[in-house]
Amino acid sequence: MAYQLLPFRFERFNEEDYLLTNDVGEYIFLHQDDFHKFVNGELDEHSDLFYDIASKQIATTDNVDDVVAMLATKFRTKKSILRDFTSLHMVVPTLRCNSSCIYCQVARKNMDDHEADMTKETAKNIVKTIFESPSPFIKIEFQGGDPSTDFEMVKYIIEESEWQNLFKKRHLDFVICTNLTLLNEDMVKYLKKHKCDISTSLDGPKDLHDMNRPLQNKELDHHAIFEKNLAMIRNVWGHKDCASALMTTSKHSLGRFKDIIDEYIRLGFNNIFLRNLNPYGFAKQYKEKIAYPVEDFVSNYKEGLDYIIELNKKGAYFVEGFAALLLKRMLTPFATGFVDLQSPAGVGIAGAIYDYDGSVYVSDEARMMARFKNYYFRLGNVNENTYQEMFNGDKMHEIIASACNECLPGCSHCVYQPYCGADPVRNLSEQGDMIGYRPTNEMCKKTKAIIKYLFELIRLHDPEINRIFWSWIKPC
Ligand code: SF4
Repeated sequence: MAYQLLPFRFERFNEEDYLLTNDVGEYIFLHQDDFHKFVNGELDEHSDLFYDIASKQIATTDNVDDVVAMLATKFRTKKSILRDFTSLHMVVPTLRCNSSCIYCQVARKNMDDHEADMTKETAKNIVKTIFESPSPFIKIEFQGGDPSTDFEMVKYIIEESEWQNLFKKRHLDFVICTNLTLLNEDMVKYLKKHKCDISTSLDGPKDLHDMNRPLQNKELDHHAIFEKNLAMIRNVWGHKDCASALMTTSKHSLGRFKDIIDEYIRLGFNNIFLRNLNPYGFAKQYKEKIAYPVEDFVSNYKEGLDYIIELNKKGAYFVEGFAALLLKRMLTPFATGFVDLQSPAGVGIAGAIYDYDGSVYVSDEARMMARFKNYYFRLGNVNENTYQEMFNGDKMHEIIASACNECLPGCSHCVYQPYCGADPVRNLSEQGDMIGYRPTNEMCKKTKAIIKYLFELIRLHDPEINRIFWSWIKPC
């Protein structure tokens, strides 16, 4: 053999082609005849095809050590998110909420039930703990319940953080996740002044949104208030990008993705994140009524993505968020900050959540599991434990040791591994242990099917689709 094979993973992609990928996310499609020649050392090392393979560092005729050094540089770039450690800090000022979403995952409290409101002492200790993180970027995201139900606590945490940051000098951002219905102009002016972005939920047109996310007060029209307040927020802010929205797919959403996308466009959003239901809280408890097989989500997702691509072809700029982040991994050497799909998993090391009582969990889903009495992913409490005890303790080490998909069974040889991630919280919740079992793992089925579909679209070599995909990839 005139060339040296370097480590790669492969899979038969369709009747004719194989897909090859390596640890740094480079990929190439080879016709089956070329693939067999290649692995048997029979490919002409002066052919264009071999040059293509070598440019991806899947084989080489050069000094192997030099190529490995180049791969190491690319690998460090892909994993650069690890350098900063935890930058996303989610804080729950209260569990009170005025909605009663059918898939609620947090055991919300009624509006007059103050049992799960955060105290100032806990809030102060949370901010202190957050600023112990070595990350130069600190994003504090208010979760709930609906955090706008305790806006005074939100303000207290924002101002305490800004005070701490006078000394710590981090790049500090805030986001509040709210259904918008309780926001008034003064609150929005405050959020604008303190550069706190607004993230909301929109499940689709009125009938669907109100079915998935009814308000507790049945006399109020959730969708109408949402629309009115969205306009008010954009008016105060002076532009549309101050508020982003997320959708959740319930059983009622299946078959309605075009309607949902149209509603996002009607309301002036230029992106959507087509998101499936996660198996926590009511979504797990009332599975029969609101959940669905993952295959149904994938087929709806593909239809939705095709529709979005068609809209873009007609001149709209409208992004599907999940595809955009996967494409960045597939087409560029850069890291993406999406906590849910990292290796090692982002749990605790990219994001963490601070509950109303000061308990710290490795992710929002871990907090949801605790509502149903599973406390495995609780790192400690800011009122009792130091930062080091929580973020560098045995529990954190144990979790991360089970959260690198480079060495998880099933993932280690998966051709899609460089673009995918590990999720020990989901594995424990769904399959009873942190490693999980890939052939029946719902997250694996979804991610694999969607990455494969994106590769199918790339494989079409349609210049219009390529232009659209590249336009979705944000610069670093
Ligand atoms: S979770 Fe599934 S798709 Fe992702 S790397 Fe593992 S086997 Fe592949």
